Amino acid sequence: MARIKIKELLKSTAYGSEVTVKGWVRTKRENKAVAFIALNDGSIITNIQIVVDVPSFDEDTIKLVTTGACIAVTGTLIQSQGKGQTVEIQAKNINILGVSDPEKYPLQPKEHSLEFLREIAHLRMRTNTFSAIMRMRHAMAFAVHKFFNDRGFVYLHTPIITGSDAEGAGEMFRVTTLDPIKPPLTEDGKVDYKQDFFGRESNLTVSGQLEGELGATALGEIYTFGPTFRAENSNTTRHLAEFWMIEPEVAFNELEDNMQLAEDFLKYLVNYALEHCKEDLEFLDARFKKEEEKKPQAERAELGHLEKLQFVVGHPFEKVTYTDAIAILKDSKPFKKGQFKYPVDWGIDLQSEHERFLVEKHFKKPVILTDYPKQIKAFYMKQSEDGKTVRAMDVLFPGIGEIIGGSQREDVLDKLVSRAAEVGIDEKHLWWYLDTRRFGNCPHAGFGLGFERLMLFVTGMSNIRDVIPFPRTPQSAEF
Ligand code: ATP
Ligand code: MN
Repeated sequence: MARIKIKELLKSTAYGSEVTVKGWVRTKRENKAVAFIALNDGSIITNIQIVVDVPSFDEDTIKLVTTGACIAVTGTLIQSQGKGQTVEIQAKNINILGVSDPEKYPLQPKEHSLEFLREIAHLRMRTNTFSAIMRMRHAMAFAVHKFFNDRGFVYLHTPIITGSDAEGAGEMFRVTTLDPIKPPLTEDGKVDYKQDFFGRESNLTVSGQLEGELGATALGEIYTFGPTFRAENSNTTRHLAEFWMIEPEVAFNELEDNMQLAEDFLKYLVNYALEHCKEDLEFLDARFKKEEEKKPQAERAELGHLEKLQFVVGHPFEKVTYTDAIAILKDSKPFKKGQFKYPVDWGIDLQSEHERFLVEKHFKKPVILTDYPKQIKAFYMKQSEDGKTVRAMDVLFPGIGEIIGGSQREDVLDKLVSRAAEVGIDEKHLWWYLDTRRFGNCPHAGFGLGFERLMLFVTGMSNIRDVIPFPRTPQSAEF
């Protein structure tokens, strides 16, 4: 018999019909007369209940139905007596597809810590929490494509191996086929990358933006969505060494258009989650509530998880310049009481504590900070008339900090070249990028959204290691 997914079955009212489901056993409760099996197949967070008339089954088969085992069940669909579920299956036949030793299976039917589950990431997708997160990850990835497709953007596949460092700031993973013990050397004793696979130094990409700009100045509106690598040795709850980034780039857009696109995009994604991920979000909302209850009253979030998502969709983002933000911070209680760990002064890079104060305490909503000092931003951002700031924008989210970073791009060739030189980037490595400014130049703007930062926000999880199936972080690349 053809297998039917539990997600479909739970909507069915074809009582009395015969169905086959396949999945993994979550729990089994039994006495001499009857056994109840909770089966999950990953299609939905809810389990289907299998009712087994014990005396009419082979004892050995029932014994092998243990937590973690994979089974196929054929039986009659019946209306459920118990509360909380609509249908269940009265089993006629149970086929053990894969046994699971209950003594050794690491996932017991009890609550496990997230830290423990990270150590068994190969199995954690079989829990409610992680299956919900992975289904939502899929839904969000689909929504990203839908948003841009509906607006006529072209999905541009920018390279993963690159010879350029988009930010001009180290922290890259080298890609090489040279012998690590005895690499060929040049006359002056340096590694001779001319003999390497690509005939030059190459790395894993830290951003698809520069190539994205080439696409935008040909196709008008593009976006990239791909793996991104940063060898920053910062063990935070918001950084991965391998993450996914979405980078739209739009010809003729200026900073204001860029801000509008970012706000529309984020609201669309959160709304999509609210509309399409109801069961998983309700589960994660309840989970969030339980986690909050473990914290002291003063540290608890003001809003529940779902309330927070609804709030973000329903309110305009606050737009503030960096200069005004510094003034707000200097005028703040924590600053005056010396409670910030890092200094606040015009020209500094804002720390997470500052960003979170602005978003969570001062404005109490998402904030788009603009017009940063040029010293702390990348060379390609458009310089303003004031000679001090660039047309940059960071979108800051509650509980996350920076979720998007972007800018209008410098379109004046001379300014771009001299700024690149100032930060130590050799013009000759960028000849192809600079050609956009030489031939058919136009204003354009774009940004990067870290997919896992978005996932943190929509799932209410607090560690970025828990919103990607197999996290890559310093000292950790198992699985
Ligand atoms: P941060 O200041 O948080 O380290 P960034 O300013 O270095 O981020 P950008 O270069 O602006 O990041 O990248 C664009 C977006 O990519 C960021 O807004 C963030 O959402 C995401 N991002 C950047 N670095 C990481 C990382 N190591 N892991 C996960 N997401 C990241
Ligand atoms: Mn940034």
